[in-house]
Amino acid sequence: MGKIIGITGGIASGKSTVTNFLRQKGFEVVDADAVVHQLQKPGGRLFQILVEHFGEKILLKNGDLNRPLLASLIFNNSDEREWSKQTQGKIICQELGSLREKLAQTEDIFFMDIPLLFEQDYASWFDETWLVYVSPNVQLERLMKRDNLSNEAAEARLASQWPLEEKKKMASHILNNNGSRDQLLSQVVSILEGGDTHARD
Ligand code: ADP
Repeated sequence: MGKIIGITGGIASGKSTVTNFLRQKGFEVVDADAVVHQLQKPGGRLFQILVEHFGEKILLKNGDLNRPLLASLIFNNSDEREWSKQTQGKIICQELGSLREKLAQTEDIFFMDIPLLFEQDYASWFDETWLVYVSPNVQLERLMKRDNLSNEAAEARLASQWPLEEKKKMASHILNNNGSRDQLLSQVVSILEGGDTHARD
């Protein structure tokens, strides 16, 4: 029987490190962020809906969406957050659902990387949910380094997300990424080979 695995985590927790490795191993991985970016490009299913809702002010001179402006309009207003959750959420869910159906026909096992897997209630789609976990101080340090952010800016991004401790209670498997990349990837190999992660603590 086929297996569909959801991968999640927080910003800079190591999701891409895991999914890059899985792709190298030949597995199909759906990247929900990339799907959303495609949908929000001119011609994509979300583009026109967003321009109609927010007006042309959310467009850059070259006609693409001004993504940071869009993010701040939604992030800073609870009505817009609700609108976005309903309207964008529904279309994103449909798109991810059709990718899932398509891959289920050809792949024995495949993965979907969904940063908001628990927040947006996708858990029931999966046979297993893997959380790429890091402790708050490691996450802050890696986020500052990767995105070249100040301590304050990085803290603000982390504060807008569910704490990984919460997600830890919900995931079926936990990949502990406080150590080295090799340590992280050997946990992936171990789960794939049917072992456990030994990382729930
Ligand atoms: P995400 O996709 O969850 O946002 P990334 O996979 O991009 O996270 O990892 C965040 C940053 O931390 C990247 O710069 C990555 O190279 C680095 N990183 C990931 N895992 C480790 C690790 N075990 N040790 C050191 N750096 C790591």
